[in-house]
Amino acid sequence: MDNIRRALTMSGREIEYVVTKNPPRGGMKYTYFTPDKSLVVQFFNDPENAADPGIHDRIKAIIGRYNPTVPEKLGGANGNDERTAAYFSKCYCWPLDIVVRPEFGIISPAYPKNFFFGDNASQILQIKGKDKKSNWFTGRSRKYLNSSELGDFRSMLQISILLSRAVRRMHQAGLAHSDLSPNNVLVDPRTGTCVVIDIDSLVVPGLFPPEVIGTRGYVAPEVLQTLGMDRKQRKFPGVQTDLHSMAVLIYEYIFLRHPIIGPKIYSEDPEQDDYLCLGEKATFIEDPVDTSNRPDDLKVTVNDLGPHLEDLFMRVFCKGLHNPSERPAAIEWERGLLKTWNLLHSCSNPNCDKRYFILHDINNPVCPFCGTRIKDDTILKLDFYAQRRGNPGRWFKKSEMIAENNTPLCVWNLHSNVFPDEKAPDREVKAYIQKKEGRYYLVNLTLKNLLSPDGSTVPPGYATELYPGAAFRLLRDDDSLLMKVELFNIN
Ligand SMILES: [Zn+2]
Repeated sequence: MDNIRRALTMSGREIEYVVTKNPPRGGMKYTYFTPDKSLVVQFFNDPENAADPGIHDRIKAIIGRYNPTVPEKLGGANGNDERTAAYFSKCYCWPLDIVVRPEFGIISPAYPKNFFFGDNASQILQIKGKDKKSNWFTGRSRKYLNSSELGDFRSMLQISILLSRAVRRMHQAGLAHSDLSPNNVLVDPRTGTCVVIDIDSLVVPGLFPPEVIGTRGYVAPEVLQTLGMDRKQRKFPGVQTDLHSMAVLIYEYIFLRHPIIGPKIYSEDPEQDDYLCLGEKATFIEDPVDTSNRPDDLKVTVNDLGPHLEDLFMRVFCKGLHNPSERPAAIEWERGLLKTWNLLHSCSNPNCDKRYFILHDINNPVCPFCGTRIKDDTILKLDFYAQRRGNPGRWFKKSEMIAENNTPLCVWNLHSNVFPDEKAPDREVKAYIQKKEGRYYLVNLTLKNLLSPDGSTVPPGYATELYPGAAFRLLRDDDSLLMKVELFNIN
């Protein structure tokens, strides 16, 4: 085929790509695919960018010493090992190599297949093969998608956790994405996964930042507000503006609405209105003090997400909206979302399209999405305690969990020094909760040293009853967590 060309890369590889007539074109680059479509080869629209040594240095740093998808010993980011590199490879489409011939360009992995719409995504829209930008799911087009595409509340919460983790990892290294938006974070609600793309416009410490402003609706107010000002006064995208953009995305994933674009009109002139609404005068639609931008029909609010997320959203969209240093860090979002995840409970209404909600108030066990009260007589709450290091016998609460039939326990629910992040040794279910004839049991799947409340071993395949008031070490292990069982009667 005469439309096949060869690219020579910085690492000395030759990569074939297919030249097409109208290649997909973004703001900065256009894209060709390799014949097997596993990689993309991108070149710059503007030859000046392609020749800019600043851009070359930045992309070299992104591919090399700042790269969380490659182990440190292979030239990737500091402290990265094979496991964390493999974990983060799934979180981003991180550039792999630089093209040096025929001209400067970038090689990246193609988006994984599940981030493209398939045959049965919609009866009405022609979207087969389109990438899954989150506004397909959070905006007006949502109603034209088949319900099998939409996921549920739990899958959107999982996407939020993965996004906060991906952003946290970049920020830990000092990198900022600078343009987090539905276009640059693809989501797949069916599997509860997301992938951060357009990594080559990252802001790298000490290297010249790219001329990115951001995307309407996701740009931090201070960036929009200072756009026309001289360079000294202007605010540029960075870590703090990422924290705003990320929170807007998470709010949209959870509520399917924008946190700032509400009913308030700021100016008769539509352009000025937009500029004030998202910039200088931006107001959270749920602001508890200034209610001028509050829609009439807010059924579900941040209060319904429990204390951890309510606090984070209030900090980012009230205090932090015009005060960037008040915005919670990505790691705070990751932790708050994980704590919230532990409070998920299934909805008792078989027709509830959210299927899960946050049971943060046991005295009011009602799904806020459909108004259905839990049709069960009891709720099981598990409190997990860890031993203070160097202080045996002193315990502190590590986490709490609302459990129901089939709630899984993984390695981070058993050990004090393991968290459900990229460093977790595995993500397998080790044991689970079973409800049978009104009683709760802990069923062991694979643990060799699981204990029962009376201290005897529970072999794999066996179960032990979790009766109210039981408090016991889960494992015969120094770093084992202690679990306390509480049972609440609700009906
Ligand atoms: Zn419901």
